[in-house]
Order: sequence, then C-alpha cells, then structure tokens
Amino acid sequence: MSVTKDEFIQLQKSVARRETRRLWVVFVVSVGTIAVVAGFGKAILNNPAVEDFFLSLVTRHRHWIPAGFGLLALAMFLPFVAIARNPGGMKCPKCDKSISSRITMLTSNCGHCGERIIA
Ligand SMILES: [Zn+2]
Repeated sequence: MSVTKDEFIQLQKSVARRETRRLWVVFVVSVGTIAVVAGFGKAILNNPAVEDFFLSLVTRHRHWIPAGFGLLALAMFLPFVAIARNPGGMKCPKCDKSISSRITMLTSNCGHCGERIIA
C-alpha cells in the first residue's frame, strides 16, 4: 500500500491539524479545571466555618498533601503523555511503526524497515 506524494502531504497535514486541535482541547480543559477549582476554593474558603474545617483537615492530614499534589500533576500530565505516545500519523503497512514524515519525504520509504510508502 503506497500513496502518491500529494496524498502523503495531505495526510500529514490533516494529522498535524488534528494534533493541534487535540492539544488545544487539552490546554483549555486544563486551564478551565484550574480556574474552576481555584474559584470554587476561594468561594468556600470565604466562609470562616468552612475555612476552619479545611484548616483542621489540612493539619490532620498534612502528610497526604504532597501525594495529593502529585496525583493532580499526574492527572494533568497524562493527556500529554497519551498524545506523545500516539502521534496519530500514518503507520507503515509492513512494520506497523509510525512513519516519520521527514524521512519518508526524503526517501519515499519507511524509516524503520524501508518499505516503499510514496509511489
Ligand atoms: Zn516500515
């Protein structure tokens, strides 16, 4: 299964557009989540009773705070890992590895096994 050079360029462009869109979605969701959590936190902390409750909670569970922040950081980091691990581009029909568009544009072949990609 090989494609023409024009088809290959079109495929790479559509992949790049899709990746950009996905990164924007992740960015907006991350920033939105932080904004909502921060706004919510500020609103409930304005109530002294709630503030006292949280302060006692924080004091009692002090040793869990680094773990909590670690989990939060991990949750925000995972979408980027998922995107990095799955470039979403063309796969070589022979070796099933992701095709590097630069190598394939230069050589017309898969950079891993040498299978012809561009006819
Ligand atoms: Zn290959």
